[in-house]
Amino acid sequence: MSVLKNILFPPRCLICAQILPPFSDAVLCAECSLEPYRFGPNRCRICSGPVPEDKAEGQVCAACLMHGSTVPGRAMFRYTGGMREAIHRFKYEDQASYAQGFARLAVEEDPTAFQHAACLVPIPIHKSRLRTRGYNQALLLAQALSRETGIPVADILCRDRATAAQNQLSSHARRENLHGAFGMVKNADSTLQELPAGDLLLVDDIYTSGSTIEEAARTLRPLAGERKIRFCTLALKTAAGGEA
Ligand SMILES: [Zn+2]
Ligand SMILES: [Zn+2]
Repeated sequence: MSVLKNILFPPRCLICAQILPPFSDAVLCAECSLEPYRFGPNRCRICSGPVPEDKAEGQVCAACLMHGSTVPGRAMFRYTGGMREAIHRFKYEDQASYAQGFARLAVEEDPTAFQHAACLVPIPIHKSRLRTRGYNQALLLAQALSRETGIPVADILCRDRATAAQNQLSSHARRENLHGAFGMVKNADSTLQELPAGDLLLVDDIYTSGSTIEEAARTLRPLAGERKIRFCTLALKTAAGGEA
C-alpha cells in the first residue's frame, strides 16, 4: 500500500472498523478474533453448517434435508455479530475493498475448501442491481480469492432476469423466485474447456437456504461434464444458531 494511501485511508479492522497501525497488513485488530464466528467440528457434509454432536460424521443437517440441497461446500463463518456487520458494509455500504481481507481470512480459515478447484465461479447479480450497487460482491470476492490461491476466476454465469430480493422469502418461494434466473455467458463452453481438470467452485458472500447455489449449479451442470460442482461462501446464515 502506498504511503499516501496509508495516510488518507488508513487500514481498518474488518470486523470492528477500528484503525490499524500504519502499514499494518493485518486484517483484524488485536481485540477482534474469529472465534465467535467459527463452527464446531460437527458439520453438515452439504452446507457445512452445524449438526448435533451425537450425529456421526457425514451427516446432513435438517435444513439441507428440508431444502433437498445437494451441492456440497464450505461456508467459512457464522453470519452473526461483527461478521454480519462487516459483510453488510462490504455489500451495501460501498466497502468493495473488504474483498481482499475477507479472501485472506477465508483461505487461512480453511485452505482445503480450495483444493481440487479448477476455477472460481462468482454468483452473478442482475444488471439493475449492479447499477445501484456499483459492483458484484461475489465477483470481487472471487477475484480476491484468486489472488490468494492462484485459482482462476471463470465469470461464466449471468443473471437473465431480475428477481425479488431473496431475504424476505420463504424457502419454497426462494426456489420459485430463482428458477431460470441464471444463464451462461456466450463463451462459457470454451472457457471451461481451457481449464485444467478439477471442480467448479461457486463463490458467493452468504449461504442461506442454498437455493441460489442449487440453481447456479443446475445451470452449470450441462457444461460441467465430469467436473464436480461445489461452493464456497464467506458466511452461513442458519435458521438456528447463525443469527444468534
Ligand atoms: Zn477489530
Ligand atoms: Zn446442511
